[in-house]
Amino acid sequence: MSDVRNVIIIGSGPAGYTAAVYTARADLKPLVFEGSVTAGGALMNTTDVENFPGFPDGIMGPDLMDNFRKQAERFGAELVADDVVEVDLEANPKVVKTYTDTYYAKAVILATGSRYRELGLENEKRLSGRGVSWCATCDGFFFRDQDIVVVGGGDTAMEEAIFLTRFAKSVTVIHRRDSLRASKIMQDRAFANEKIRFIWDSEVADVLGEERVSGVRVRNVKTGEESDLPVGGVFVAIGHEPRTELLKGQVDLDEQGYIVVDSPSTRTNIDGVFAAGDVVDHIYRQAITAAGTGCAAALDAERWLTLNA
Ligand code: FAD
Repeated sequence: MSDVRNVIIIGSGPAGYTAAVYTARADLKPLVFEGSVTAGGALMNTTDVENFPGFPDGIMGPDLMDNFRKQAERFGAELVADDVVEVDLEANPKVVKTYTDTYYAKAVILATGSRYRELGLENEKRLSGRGVSWCATCDGFFFRDQDIVVVGGGDTAMEEAIFLTRFAKSVTVIHRRDSLRASKIMQDRAFANEKIRFIWDSEVADVLGEERVSGVRVRNVKTGEESDLPVGGVFVAIGHEPRTELLKGQVDLDEQGYIVVDSPSTRTNIDGVFAAGDVVDHIYRQAITAAGTGCAAALDAERWLTLNA
């Protein structure tokens, strides 16, 4: 086999590019698959990022990812804007396929991220980053003294709603059922919070606004009745899915589909395969934590290659 790489990185968010910077600087000449449509990861879909350290005035998501990318390239990472469609991680060397080519590597770092579930509304997409958000930790600060809607009824939705009351004038939780899925303790906290109110048996039928969100159209799922609620922000908290379709039957996944690692390391159950970022993490889900585990995966892979290659 003529061209066996030291390390292939699958994914181009903060985790993948950070792993690329570290492995490139260790002279491992990493090959990075960025994806054909979504190169740059989740932050390509947002505007201001104010909580990534090192940027005191904040930075636009796509600019931040462009910086990550340039830094990886500067040290010689080879970046390919293509999708990996098949892997054989137990093979030696490991096999990584795109639609057109087959690549081989001694070690593989998985950093494919996760996707937030969307409501599936056209205006939700159009106003994403302009009042529609999927992350209270990231964006709550922008909604000071505003009326906000949180969509969802699980633990995450309650966490987001409670967190948002620090900034918002009011938080209205819109939930499709007449009771919450959230744990009792989270329910109790949400019910006790004076800033939170609930609209039951209802869904968001549309997001309203031209340049920014100005309200939501709420539909009662039992009666079909619709009414408009003026709000400045919509937080969608109906879950997220790790991008692990490719990896089913290849590495151990937990019941929610996230890759299981031998924490605090980034080792998966397959020798020479490491995982980092949101595809592993259903707790923190931040750019800085993804970058942090991307660094850890690079160092783990580097040490593994020293001992095994
Ligand atoms: P991702 O950023 O999701 O990147 C993974 C990438 O891997 C994918 O985009 C794709 O390009 C690639 N990929 C996936 N599968 C394949 C495949 N089969 N082949 C090739 N490539 C593949 N966090 C903050 O810290 N601050 C914020 O302000 C902030 N704002 C956010 C706003 C929005 C709208 C969203 C959605 C998220 C926000 N986050 C924010 C969260 C942050 O974006 C994520 O935590 C972070 O991007 C996760 O990084 P990652 O590298 O694990 O994965």
